[in-house]
Amino acid sequence: MQLSDLMPERKTTLRQTNASITRTGRQIICEWHLTRLVDEQGRAIGVAALVDDVTEREVARSELMRQANYDTLTGLPNRLLANDRLNQAVKYARRYKKSAAVLFVDLDMFKHVNDTMGHEWGDRLLQQVSIRLQSCVREQDTVARLGGDEFLVILAGLNTMVDAELVAEKILTSVAMPFVLDGHNFFLSASIGITGFPGDQEDVGVLLRNADTAMYKAKEEGRNTYCFYTDDMNLQARERMTLESELRQALDNKELYLVYQPQVNLLDGQVVGVEALLRWRNGALGEVEPSIFIPVAESAGMIDLIGSWVLADACRQLTQWYRQGFDQLVLAVNVSSRQLRDEGFVENLQILLRVSGCPPERLKLEITESTLLADEQQTRITLEKIKMLGVGVVLDDFGVGYSSLSYLSKYAFNTLKIDRSFVQNANRRSEDASLCRAIVAMARSLNLQVIAEGVECKEQLEFLKEAGVTIVQGFLYSRPVTAGQLERLLVANEMVL
Ligand code: C2E
Ligand code: MG
Ligand code: MG
Repeated sequence: MQLSDLMPERKTTLRQTNASITRTGRQIICEWHLTRLVDEQGRAIGVAALVDDVTEREVARSELMRQANYDTLTGLPNRLLANDRLNQAVKYARRYKKSAAVLFVDLDMFKHVNDTMGHEWGDRLLQQVSIRLQSCVREQDTVARLGGDEFLVILAGLNTMVDAELVAEKILTSVAMPFVLDGHNFFLSASIGITGFPGDQEDVGVLLRNADTAMYKAKEEGRNTYCFYTDDMNLQARERMTLESELRQALDNKELYLVYQPQVNLLDGQVVGVEALLRWRNGALGEVEPSIFIPVAESAGMIDLIGSWVLADACRQLTQWYRQGFDQLVLAVNVSSRQLRDEGFVENLQILLRVSGCPPERLKLEITESTLLADEQQTRITLEKIKMLGVGVVLDDFGVGYSSLSYLSKYAFNTLKIDRSFVQNANRRSEDASLCRAIVAMARSLNLQVIAEGVECKEQLEFLKEAGVTIVQGFLYSRPVTAGQLERLLVANEMVL
């Protein structure tokens, strides 16, 4: 009887792949095709085995799987696999009445590390971060890298969401420990958004989006913190998206304009300067406050464009006033630290000054103190170059945020603006009064001009006079006004109270 007589129809085939070792000791992956042979009555009479060496194919396949599912830099699961794991975690939680949590972890200011230290160091840091993140979770949890400095932590089978909070705290502590690369210490922090099942949603896409939204909230709250997702965040996120998309068209639609707030010399009551303040009037949203739309412009990468428009319009106006005969007037323009980081900033400013005919010594740029932290060296050089052009540099909002005396000596400032929060309490709280006095004394010793902003009442004014401040700005004298209104003030040029 021939084998082929028995095999057709009546066979059962078993296909199996497993690892084997050849006679020469080489490890191979074999594919076994086992076929049960039966006779005409259906009785088993033997097994035919065919063995294929499929090592190459299997190695290639697992490499492909790895590439498709894992991040090459850190070896962590990538977005694709993370989605899958999250799906499983949700299913498991539902079946066993447990919880699952998603933590969206984003490193703070990491772009800055990359820009200043170079990508190679950035990559090495990311590798170390990924090891630390893994050490914060249990084996059944997943740490994935979504890309850039974004990681996802999936906690499966939790008893309560409090456990997610504990992990978030552990991550923050772990990331805050110094990273050592070639003997150098690096300090990082992270912002974490947390969402969970059951609770917020069970759709994986929505869970991820919510965790991302909560992470942005953590950033807004000052970074190096975590934040749980709440429903109204969604509303806020939607509002923010509307704001962002409207703002993108604001320049083209000519919705932005400048107003000017006078700065008065207390010795003779004359307007010696003005601060240009940006305003946005939108058809659908109405008047939007700068404290709301400027941070949006910054984080959405629009501040460079908007900021250049502000500078150009302010220079145009200043030149016009100068030619009208208000040639002693100094105009201050707020500049975001992001604009300063743009390499072409100084060159563009130089061109703008030339084209507009604006006298550089009548222009000042205000930089908010709390934003100076980033990239000290680069900022220092940029400010130095601005000063070389003859343009003044003002340290705005002094006293809030990361007040540091070292800023004053390190950077090329000519003027210091005391933040209005101090001015407003100076006549009531003795600590603020002492601080104001100390700031004025210190500024004097460093040869800096002092401006007090946010002066609203005569008591504050009296205090400031007594403390030795000579230039003030505030509602007591005038709110920010249009260019036309300011001209009338300049013509009258004496701010009589
Ligand atoms: P800032 O540069 O510190 O500007 C002073 C702010 O204090 C202005 O708010 C002004 O209207 C307000 N202010 C002045 N006097 C008083 C007062 O007596 N009492 C009170 N309560 N407030 C007073 P505004 O115009 O809402 O601007 C807020 C911030 O937005 C500015 O703070 C500045 O940081 C930013 N900003 C405004 N325009 C621009 C711009 O063109 N570019 C950039 N990058 N930032 C801008
Ligand atoms: Mg300002
Ligand atoms: Mg200010």
